[in-house]
Amino acid sequence: MDTEQARDQLVDRLCERESLSEQTAAAMRAVPRHEFVPQSRRTDAYADRPLPIGNGQTISAPHMVAIMIELLDAEPGDRLLEIGTGCGYHAAVAAEIVGPEHVFSVEYHSELAEKARSTFAELGYGDIQIRAGDGRDGWPDHAPYDAAYLTCAGTEFPPALLEQVRPGGVVLGPIGDDRQHLVRGVVDEDGLEKRTEHGAVRFVPLQ
Ligand code: SAH
Repeated sequence: MDTEQARDQLVDRLCERESLSEQTAAAMRAVPRHEFVPQSRRTDAYADRPLPIGNGQTISAPHMVAIMIELLDAEPGDRLLEIGTGCGYHAAVAAEIVGPEHVFSVEYHSELAEKARSTFAELGYGDIQIRAGDGRDGWPDHAPYDAAYLTCAGTEFPPALLEQVRPGGVVLGPIGDDRQHLVRGVVDEDGLEKRTEHGAVRFVPLQ
């Protein structure tokens, strides 16, 4: 089976299990996950599980990326802020929806940021912008964002994120210390309103 067939089968299964929108399914079908994972892990790229990507970090399982993309509810042209670029896979899926030039991602480890930059350039996602640094500060230069999401867990959403997302915009991420939940909130002038929980999750902690 070639990589495209393997990816299609994975997305078919995810569609059945998670009833994904056509937009999310198309984005998941478009991004070659095997190109983002280390060479030694490529044969596992289309199994639905997390994989190590170096620096003690992991790429989330495909179903988790799909669920988070779905909950972001983004439209073409929306501006997105991602905290935790990792290998760049999740950002590439988001870019399939909003356009690469509308994705801004912050990665703590400069080696991972560098690697993701070169993967993006190779695969046609070169317009995604990455900043190496602490995502707790968000990325004020490109604010306001229509949505921001964390791919690493915090005790709470960093205050800078709530300031940099426009009123009515969405924040999403794993929240909690020992026990984490995927939380989605809509930002208003006073902070966060309309918080909803979307199940127990396990992510690496924010550094
Ligand atoms: N979305 C990624 C998964 C990343 S795992 C992918 O598709 O590969 C979480 C990432 O968050 C790791 O790369 C980790 O280095 C990064 N991270 C942890 N704390 C951070 C912080 N304070 N600021 C920015 N990135 C952080």
